[in-house]
Amino acid sequence: MSERTFSIIKPDATERNLTGQINAMIEGAGLRIVGQRRIHMTRAEAEKFYEVHAARPFYGELVEFMTRSPVVVQVLEGDNAVARYREVMGATNPAQADEGTIRKAFALSVGENCVHGSDSVENAGIEIAQFFTAEQIPG
Ligand code: ADP
Ligand code: MG
Repeated sequence: MSERTFSIIKPDATERNLTGQINAMIEGAGLRIVGQRRIHMTRAEAEKFYEVHAARPFYGELVEFMTRSPVVVQVLEGDNAVARYREVMGATNPAQADEGTIRKAFALSVGENCVHGSDSVENAGIEIAQFFTAEQIPG
């Protein structure tokens, strides 16, 4: 069933000019990029986006990282887009990521791991709404 997921190409990836190569892997996996903007996240936006991790020891470091450089926020669409994108991303820790995944190819560490992808359809809706208006995602 066609659905949407939310993606972020993180600072470690934009700093290394990897947006095009990551987008090629996304499109190669059958996901359509239906919304895309380059933004510099504010501290407040990053804190809100990752608020589920607020109690984790890496939260401060994560907010610093996500606001260090511009990111590319995206809406991806396709069959089972949420699970499909998680497969293409690979494991959070690149040392555990499978061959052929974005994180295996490009991630530097468990923190600086190139991409975010929603973990459920419900969260995808919430995350898309934080960064996109309906007009920015033409059907
Ligand atoms: P994922 O991005 O794969 O869904 P999580 O939701 O568990 O992973 O974590 C969110 C983000 O927090 C990760 O992508 C990574 O950037 C960062 N992170 C997770 N675990 C750690 C850790 N142990 N140390 C530093 N940063 C981490
Ligand atoms: Mg997550």
